[in-house]
Amino acid sequence: MIPMPIIEEPEDEGYGARLIINLAALSDNWRMMRDRSKPARCSAVIKADGYGLGATRVARALYEAGCRDFFVATAREGAQVRHEVPDARIFVMNCILPGIEATCRSADLVPVLASMEHITQWTAACAANGEHPCALQVDTGMNRLGITMDDAIELSDDVTRPAGFLPVLVMSHLACADQPDHLLNRQQLKRFQRVANAFEGIDSSLSNSPGIFLGDPYLFDLTRPGIALFGGSADGKTAQTKPVVTAEARIISIRHAKRGETVGYGAATRLERDSVIAVCSIGYADGYMRSMSGAGVPLRGMKTPGAVGYIGGKQVPILGRVTMDMTTFDVTDVADGAAKAGDFIELFGNNLPIDDVAASAGTIGYELLTSLGNRYRRHYISNGV
Ligand SMILES: *Cc1c(COP(=O)(O)O)cnc(C)c1O
Repeated sequence: MIPMPIIEEPEDEGYGARLIINLAALSDNWRMMRDRSKPARCSAVIKADGYGLGATRVARALYEAGCRDFFVATAREGAQVRHEVPDARIFVMNCILPGIEATCRSADLVPVLASMEHITQWTAACAANGEHPCALQVDTGMNRLGITMDDAIELSDDVTRPAGFLPVLVMSHLACADQPDHLLNRQQLKRFQRVANAFEGIDSSLSNSPGIFLGDPYLFDLTRPGIALFGGSADGKTAQTKPVVTAEARIISIRHAKRGETVGYGAATRLERDSVIAVCSIGYADGYMRSMSGAGVPLRGMKTPGAVGYIGGKQVPILGRVTMDMTTFDVTDVADGAAKAGDFIELFGNNLPIDDVAASAGTIGYELLTSLGNRYRRHYISNGV
């Protein structure tokens, strides 16, 4: 007989998975990064819907913690959070022109201009519609966004600077901040110091989360942490961020299978013992990636161990392949009654660091967070309540 799911929390009815998002931990992480950033000011990067956790809730919590500078990717994202952070500055990093001008004016956003073409278009728009602040991105070695060093130095010269060009921030982005010994860090620092000096009197910003741990010279006037706020490891070693999000999937069904039988698509896993299998309502459609299957789906030939879940005080490995809507876990070692239909298995969070789970899929916490999708019930809590 198939046991019926036990619905323990009525408000979760109909949801196969949930995210418990701890806004107090988020604020604590921001305060930690703020302290590490001193004497620089500390902003918050909340692009991609606040790294998948809900941009408006995240923005409001960080504003209450004292944050007054925010970075988003698109003008649409900026407009979405504007009313949460009334007197804060919101910088738009992906300056998509034409079209961005109207949104920047109506939602009071600061575009980060990143090419000479952008500057020309922006200053033309300002000549027609009136002055509006902007920021300037300079490429110091990443070859992604930003004007060249030479153009930046030329622009910094008051005489040649176009009328209506009013940068309130010059910024650049580090390519290798998560590898402290990488030579490019020091090269980018040197180049950006030249830019910051040339734009004397205008605020400067270089460092993302791991950049903040590279040393005081990397701080400049404003830091730009993202992942550390959301509980990712900021520098891979020393920075202890608090977990912010716990993802859990509900057990739909428990089944018993015999040694020698196989589990799931492709019969990828053959059981080495009589096993208890928890079938969970989570899959790659929820950003629980197929590559987490480990040996079930060897990742480009690598024999990765695959991800584990957590229930009843035990880590429980994935059996077989992660599918679109379901994943099977080996709960044989979990105490009787501690893993039953209706219970939740943790996928990452308080007991399973997000970076470890991401690594078992061959990716990074950033991708895991921003892939979560919209089938989760999102619970926002403060102070663990
Ligand atoms: C995403 C981003 C950040 C934040 O990076 P984290 O590694 O998440 O701290 C900072 N600056 C720029 C330009 C970005 O694109």
